[in-house]
Amino acid sequence: MSHKPTVSFYTLGCRLNQSETAVLERSFEAKGFSVAAEGHPADIVIINTCTVTENGDTDTRRLVNKVNRLNPHARIALIGCQAQVQKERLLALPNVRWVVGNARKMDMVCIVQEENENGRRLITPPIPRESFALPAAGIDRRHARANIKIQDGCDFFCSFCEIPYARGRARSRKFDNILWEAEALASAGHKELVVTGINVGTYSDKGHGLLDVIEALEQIAGLERIRISSIEPTTVPGALLKKMAGRTKLCRHLHMPLQSGSDKTLREMKRRYSVQEFKDFIRKAVRMVPGICIGTDLIVGFPGETEEDFEASVQCLKEEPIHYAHVFSYSPRSSARSRQLPAPVPQRVVQERSRLLRDLSGRKRRVFYESLIGTRQKVLFEQKKEGHWIGVTDNYVRMRARSERHLANQWMGVDLAEIDGQAVRGVLSAAG
Ligand code: SF4
Repeated sequence: MSHKPTVSFYTLGCRLNQSETAVLERSFEAKGFSVAAEGHPADIVIINTCTVTENGDTDTRRLVNKVNRLNPHARIALIGCQAQVQKERLLALPNVRWVVGNARKMDMVCIVQEENENGRRLITPPIPRESFALPAAGIDRRHARANIKIQDGCDFFCSFCEIPYARGRARSRKFDNILWEAEALASAGHKELVVTGINVGTYSDKGHGLLDVIEALEQIAGLERIRISSIEPTTVPGALLKKMAGRTKLCRHLHMPLQSGSDKTLREMKRRYSVQEFKDFIRKAVRMVPGICIGTDLIVGFPGETEEDFEASVQCLKEEPIHYAHVFSYSPRSSARSRQLPAPVPQRVVQERSRLLRDLSGRKRRVFYESLIGTRQKVLFEQKKEGHWIGVTDNYVRMRARSERHLANQWMGVDLAEIDGQAVRGVLSAAG
């Protein structure tokens, strides 16, 4: 009896990696592989790596050890960002057979099938700049919301960031190829798509920009919500807020990385806006789009960050209409220019500052949630956990509700009743 080859995946890092893993899973299935769940025995284990923080690097080594323990006969492929920038180091890890950078990782099925007995392979050619297409639709059987990748790479070269080295320069996915995948995702039952990329605001393919992508996705039957994952402050198309305000399929949710509330630090980071410009934009967003959720990223402990600089970040998060922040402790990346900067901030100070900002972010989220108590919102439910169905509203409120019905991937009208931990408890009203 012939054995159907099995492959399993682990994904580290960002939403873009998750979207690429979903596409790879479907590509392997199309070629006759069976995809095993994470941690289950498989002939091949593919780890989609990350290098955004030092944790990403350590996580890869830890995962390789875990795979070798659970699955000692598996051949391991390390692909993606860390594979691109730390090739030799990764190839030396035990049972690692392939190290494949970002230029070729979406060809993993062919690479595995081409395999001969020649041992380890390092495949990290330069990353091309041309528009690209993806070979399969990343139908995600575990989540109601699916990610759709529209762009990759970045030309901005912020001083703390290794992305232009790990993922290459900015390039966009072919417009028709995006629509083809979106149709397939909608036909497979996905009702919400999260538009994903490294710098999606710079999307450009044959005259089409980000707004054209959103408008084309809105025309697809079955798709009811489109969410933008994260967008750089200087790249938001002028008409985007108007579209959100019009309550189209575009979610009232804007995740825009501020990184620091200090102009001095922003200049050192080589960001392209001032704190005032950022504030002006988000104030306009809340004026134009009632109920909008605004999230941001903040880096703590960038070299030279003084108490005063940090305080400026605190004030910004506290006073401005920012409803949550993802807080990152600065870690110097090998190719990033900030590595050369003097005045590192001591680790214990970084930790304390991170803790303060995370607490503040939790309080801001709560205030946002409280402002919506008593309203009725449309929720797309995803999964059941500890007796509650969990879902999100278009403006990114996490909901918990009790129901005996099966609500996965269902729309429900929900009355927001009270704060319940990190979520809001709701009472189901009527469908849709
Ligand atoms: S905009 Fe800056 S932080 Fe974002 S990916 Fe590009 S270089 Fe990195």
